[in-house]
Order: sequence, then C-alpha cells, then structure tokens
Amino acid sequence: MYQVKFYTGEYSVRQRAANRDKCVAYVEQHFNAATTTANYVVVVTGANASETSKTWGRSYAQRISDVFKIPMAGTGRSGILVGGWNGRGNANLKYTDMPAILLEPLFVSNPTQAEWVRSEEGQNKLAKVLADSIIDFFPGGGLIAFSVGHKYKTRRPHDRGAAVYGGGTEADYAEIVLEKAKNILETYDPALHYDEPENGDEEIYAHHIMVVKDNKEIWVHTDVDEDDEVMWDAENRILYITTL
Ligand SMILES: [Zn+2]
Repeated sequence: MYQVKFYTGEYSVRQRAANRDKCVAYVEQHFNAATTTANYVVVVTGANASETSKTWGRSYAQRISDVFKIPMAGTGRSGILVGGWNGRGNANLKYTDMPAILLEPLFVSNPTQAEWVRSEEGQNKLAKVLADSIIDFFPGGGLIAFSVGHKYKTRRPHDRGAAVYGGGTEADYAEIVLEKAKNILETYDPALHYDEPENGDEEIYAHHIMVVKDNKEIWVHTDVDEDDEVMWDAENRILYITTL
C-alpha cells in the first residue's frame, strides 16, 4: 500500500517533482554534527508547515528519543524546529504541498551516536522509527517521497554532508537508512498488523473454552464470560468455570 520514490536534484526541484507526483508525505534524512558530546534529536519543519507536519515531526522525535534514550531539542524541547536554524533547512521543505519533515536524529560527531549510525542494528532502528511514523500518520498508504540530504544535488554533486566519526559520510548513511525504511514500507501489509480496536475488549476476548485431542476439537463451551473464573485443577484434572 506504500510506494517510496527517491527524489534527486536541487532541493526545490525534488519538492516540485514530489508535488507533481502527488506524494502524500515528504522526508529528507540527515544526521547532525557538532561536538563529540552533542546529544539530541531534532526535526525541522518548514516555516509554512501544516499542523500535520509539526505533529508528525514531534512524534518522530519522541520515538527517536525513546528508542535511543536521548533528549529532544527544538523550540521548547518539543522535538521540532519550525523554519530551521535561522532559516537553514527551511528551503529543503517549504516548496512541498504535502506534509514534510527533515530529520536530524543523531550526531555523527558524537562517537557513541556515530557507532549507532554505522551499525546495522542502529540503522534498522532508525528505519523502523521512520517507517512506523509514516504508517501512523498516513494510514491510507500512497506514494512517499524520500530525499537524501546533501547527495544528488545538481550543482554540488560531491557534497556528502558531515564526516561520520569512525568513517563514512552523513549522506551515505542517510541513504542506507532511507533504503531500509523504503523496504519496510513497501512490504508493509496492514492485515498482518491488527491494532486493538478502540473499544474492542470483546473482540479480543475469546468466549470459548475448547478441548482438543490429536489436533481435533472434541468439546467446546462457547459461553464463557470475561469475568468468569477459569481454573484448572491439575491434581484432579478438572477444569472449573465459575460465574462469580
Ligand atoms: Zn545534513
């Protein structure tokens, strides 16, 4: 139900192409870089961002914060920075017609976090957080636009963003994470992911007790209430069903 398309070229060109394709969501993946002790997650939205973009961005930041046990930054530590760092990042998103976020989940200048970025386990976690956030916010499926920060720009084709502590570049790892998220989304089958119904206690409670012999049902009692006490007396080999 999801398709993912990578957009390349100048950032404005990517966004306009995603608009033409009627993408339902737009994600640009980066990693942050500063000092070796820098430690937080932040998501940039455009200055003109919709409430959906902001809520989605905060939700992604919160999940990253939970999974990697790192603090959230942004305005009032909300996890998002509307309009970017004094405008930096804004142009990466402001031309989109659809909800759009720019991810800065970890610091590649921080040795611990760089190790997460470089490890398959860390990459899988990052991809899962992103894919889960898209599934939650865009449950109807559709075409999702991915943009690898720095890489594939027309005028600066060699830009790969920040150097990653221990080796590699921000953009190459961003691309790996997006490829993994694409794989999760494109193989996602909602039938395999039943959410518990809103008021559906009855629907997940089994109203029967069954005796099965050699894989064949030989006895069934279908009228078991949720509040009944069901007790197996192992010593006497008796199952007691008691309505209290
Ligand atoms: Zn970057």
